[in-house]
Amino acid sequence: MAEETIFSKIIRKEIPSDMLYQDDLVTAFRDINPAMPTHILIVPNDLIPTAADVEPEHELALGRLFTVARKLAEEAGIAEDGYRLIVNCKEHGRQDVFHLHMHLLGGAKHGPMLIKKPD
Ligand code: 5GP
Repeated sequence: MAEETIFSKIIRKEIPSDMLYQDDLVTAFRDINPAMPTHILIVPNDLIPTAADVEPEHELALGRLFTVARKLAEEAGIAEDGYRLIVNCKEHGRQDVFHLHMHLLGGAKHGPMLIKKPD
């Protein structure tokens, strides 16, 4: 069994967050350390540690991440100008919280996509 992270506690509302959306499959809340004017995390309710752990049975929840991202982007007023969706995976992907999540980042123009950047 994978070890729970703080995101499971946020999903269960055991610790506070700025939650914007929740249904039977996913939860969305504002990132505590925003990197852009709009920075929202969209998270499957069930613990999938990383993108490297996804299984066919997760496809409904993973698809929901995108439809909720679209809805929240529209509500945030960033849909027309656009935004970036990011899923970091494990150490080389710079994933810090091992509960798969999608970052919705917008409200300003992003730089070019990073291909490789040494520490
Ligand atoms: P990662 O690097 O794993 O892709 O992103 C983890 C994100 O979770 C980071 O952007 C970080 O700011 C955010 N984060 C970490 N702990 C918390 C928390 O307790 N609450 C909220 N709202 N965001 C968190």
